[in-house]
Amino acid sequence: MSSFRIGYGYDVHRLTEGRKLILGGVEIPHTKGLLGHSDADVLIHAIIDALLGALALGDIGALFPDNDNKYKDIDSRILLREAYRLVHEKGYRLANLDSTICAQEPRLAPHIISMRETLAQDLQTEPELISVKATTEEGLGISGSREGITASAVVLLEKI
Ligand code: MG
Repeated sequence: MSSFRIGYGYDVHRLTEGRKLILGGVEIPHTKGLLGHSDADVLIHAIIDALLGALALGDIGALFPDNDNKYKDIDSRILLREAYRLVHEKGYRLANLDSTICAQEPRLAPHIISMRETLAQDLQTEPELISVKATTEEGLGISGSREGITASAVVLLEKI
């Protein structure tokens, strides 16, 4: 196997009232939150799929089925740490991660540093190796209509 493996992940969750908004493991003050079986942290879900994808280990739905009550309202950071444990078990570690969240609102810029620090903790690395970007889609599509938030992530893994 190659010393380097690249992985890509993408996820979408619907915005709804009466839920907390959690992105990158950070609770963000907003009038709505994301709907899902877990805490619906769309960024962490995209990162998990990127980690699993890099080693062709399947996807988040196969690893943590959303019909399993064990994962009801679970903190997605727990799932992230478990996915990264699998990466380690396969003999790889994270070289770097880049990600983008698309949300029309709220403004995410003030929370980016906390997300990078939180993700770095779970991925046993430094925030310098974890990039989180936020953008809007100019009022268009899933995020622009405020129906949901999307996130995508790429990771590079290197052999230990
Ligand atoms: Mg998801």
